[in-house]
Formats: sequence, C-alpha cells, structure tokens
Amino acid sequence: AHLERLLRERRATGPAPGTRRATADHPFSRHVNPDLASMLHGAGIDVEYTRGRGCLLWDAEGNEYLDFTAGYGSLPFGHSPPAIWEAVAETHRREEPGFVQPSLLGAAGELAGRLAGIAPQGLDRVVFANSGAESVEVAIKLARSATGRLGILSTDSGFHGKTLAALSATGRSEYQAEFGAPLTGFSRVPYGDTTALAAALAQHGATTAAFVVEAIQGEGGVNVAPAGYLAEAGRLCAEHGVLLVLDEVQTGLGRTGTLFAAEQHDVVPDILTLAKALGGGVVPTAAVLTRADLLTEGFAFRHTSTFAGSALAARVGLRTLDLLTADDGALLRQVRENGERLRAGLEDIRDAYPGAITAVRGSGLLLGVELSDAIDGFGGQGLIGAMAHDENLGMLLCGNLLRREGIRVAPTLFGNRVVRVEPPLVVTGEQCDRFLEGFERAVDHVWRNDAVGLVG
Ligand code: PMP
Repeated sequence: AHLERLLRERRATGPAPGTRRATADHPFSRHVNPDLASMLHGAGIDVEYTRGRGCLLWDAEGNEYLDFTAGYGSLPFGHSPPAIWEAVAETHRREEPGFVQPSLLGAAGELAGRLAGIAPQGLDRVVFANSGAESVEVAIKLARSATGRLGILSTDSGFHGKTLAALSATGRSEYQAEFGAPLTGFSRVPYGDTTALAAALAQHGATTAAFVVEAIQGEGGVNVAPAGYLAEAGRLCAEHGVLLVLDEVQTGLGRTGTLFAAEQHDVVPDILTLAKALGGGVVPTAAVLTRADLLTEGFAFRHTSTFAGSALAARVGLRTLDLLTADDGALLRQVRENGERLRAGLEDIRDAYPGAITAVRGSGLLLGVELSDAIDGFGGQGLIGAMAHDENLGMLLCGNLLRREGIRVAPTLFGNRVVRVEPPLVVTGEQCDRFLEGFERAVDHVWRNDAVGLVG
C-alpha cells in the first residue's frame, strides 16, 4: 500500500523539475534508442541535462543536480574539466599530427612510458585501445597468443564490456545468448571463491589461457574481492601457467583511493586493463599493460586499431596522470578521505533504516548501497530490469533522489537492488555531506511506513 501511494504521488506530482524531453518524439528516442523514453519516464528520471561542470549538472531551465554517477567511473574530474580541455587545446596549438601510423615518436610513446612508470611491477609494455571492452578484447588476444591456449575463465556477474569476446567473459547469461555468446572457450566460476577456482583450474588449467577478474565487481553490484582472494588467484593461476587478467577499467586510476586497486590486494597481474578515467572525462581511450615476455613477436602488427593511441587521447591521458599524481598524491588522499566520509554516513543511514538498507560496501569512491528485497528489487534484472519495472524500491529511491533532492545516482548494471555511489574523484567534503543529507531524506520518504515493517 505504501508503494502504491508513492507511485500515485509520483504520477500526481508529475514531471521532475527541469526540461523533460525524453518523449517518444525526441530525436534520440526516434532515431537512436526507442526504448529509452518510456524507460526513463517510467522511472521518473527523464531529465535532459544541458550543462555540466565538476560534480554538477544543469537542465535547460537551470535546475541544478549533484551527479554521483560520474559517467560510471569515466569522469574522474567531473564534467567539463578545465585542465583536460587545456590539454586538448594544447594538442591543437602544437599542431600534433593525428593518426600517423606507424610512427616511432609522439605522445603515445610518452604516455606508454608514464604508464609503465606507475604500473604494478613488471607491467611495462602497453597496447592502446579505445574503450573498456576493446581493452578486454586485447587482453584476451594477448593471453591466447602468449599461451597458445584457448580457454578463458571469468566470474559470475563480472562485467567486462559488450563486444563479443568481452561479452563472453561478462558473467550474465541473459545478455549473451541472442548474440551467439559465449564464444568457444569461455567459462565461469563464482566470484571470490578460491576453492571453485582451484577446482576449475585443476580440471581445465592446461587448456586455459587466462582468468579474467575485477578487484571490485562494479556493474555486478560493487562486490569487493575478499581479502587474499586475488593474491591466491594469482598464485593458483601461476601454478597452471594461466595468466591473471585484472580488469581495472572501472577501478583503475584512483577510483578506489590508490592508482590501481591491485595495490590494495597485494597482487601483480600478468595483464591489466584501463579505460574510463584514462580519458579524463573527455576522450574515449584505453590501455592494456602487460609484461615484455607475454608480447609475442609481431603482436603489435597482428593486433591494431586505427584510432588507438592517438595524439589527442595520449595528451589527455598524460594530463590525467599529472592531475592524479600532483602534490604528492593530494587528490588520491582526498578520494580516500571522502570515501570514508561517505561510507561512514551511509553506514549511519543503514543503521537507522536496517529494514531498508542491507549493506554498504566498496572502496574509495566506488561504493554500493544494497537495498532490502522486502519488495522485489529490480525484477531480478539489475539496471535494465529496474528501469523497465519502475515499481520497485531501488528506482523509487533513485527517482525520489533526483526529483526531490536534485541528486543523481544509478543502480549497478547487474547488481540486484544495489545503488552505486560513485561521484567524480574531485568531489568535495561539502558535496558529500549534501549528498548524505539528501540520501537520508529520500530513504526516509520511500521507506517510512511502519505498516510494511521496513523501518527498524
Ligand atoms: N570492464 C569493466 C570492469 C567495466 O566496468 C566496464 C564498463 N562499465 C567495461 C569493462 C566496459 O567498458 P566500455 O563500456 O568502455 O566498453
């Protein structure tokens, strides 16, 4: 009854503030994504943002929103970051040549050197790519080429992208079948379970090229690798000559409070993928780090990608690394501080609403709030299910946050009932407090109903 009242209230109060143009007639709906308008409208989040700066977004009417999704990790410095746009302008001022391939010189070489300098030990070879999924494709090709084996092991609910090999490693069957995935050689084990991994390797180790895994399953529901899991996985893989591919597309470059999440797990992978933050929030780019002995002769010719390692992407990548490492790591210290501040605040809210929030987890500024399944969460289908079935608590919470508090959060892609809290790395303490106050008010509004017994 409470849920029905909230849904009625939403219909009665009508549109969120701001220009709501995600109608079926909008050109985007018409020509790009016909499903989007009704989904966004159903979930009450059909706002068209027209301007962004740092952690803030505005719609055409000038309403302000606090963005705690950060482009799912791809906006380390928030929207319209001046220093990154300065790097774009500098590339132009220098009249750096674009797409000269092959070329021995240039920004890509500089960036490769910088990445090798900060990477986990021994990962001093770089293959550039243009997206997270493409970096995973590269990692899989590298592993198959280096080992001469076909098998790729990944984890249930892991997310590695949606191109065909990456999708084959992505751990949700319902996204795969219609596309002919998984491709030959792909199989999965439960995440965080070294016994299952040991058993799989004991059986198939000799034909397995790589184990592909995240330090935190971001899209899978912000599931953090248990202590010791990745180090033990590395050891088990090494025993069988299987390469450990750590997908740091979302966790990499500061998101968890260190440059690489690997540092916190005491593991040195054989191959590490980076994307999202590397583009500074402006340019799509990616990089795969690996060891010299794994790069087979001629690999760089047998695997190429026209746009990879462009001067623009490399200059932006260099400036991104400058910002992440400036002042002796001041920004990463700020990430750790604000991560702790948000986590503590969210835990307080969890304690005040134990029937509503069942867990708070994550690391640095990649946090997840798991909501009660007292009323079916996201129809069992993560974000897509959530948007398609707006009558659930997760989307009600996200919708309420947006409309009443001007705060933007989103559920994880596969994590049933998990709302991600993932602001830009430059978020301030004051913005974190503003978020927490709004979050608590929205939780209170959605859950305060003793009749359904959700308030502790
Ligand atoms: N790997 C991980 C861990 C990711 O989080 C993502 C994106 N959420 C990807 C790969 C795919 O990246 P992209 O969307 O750039 O292809």
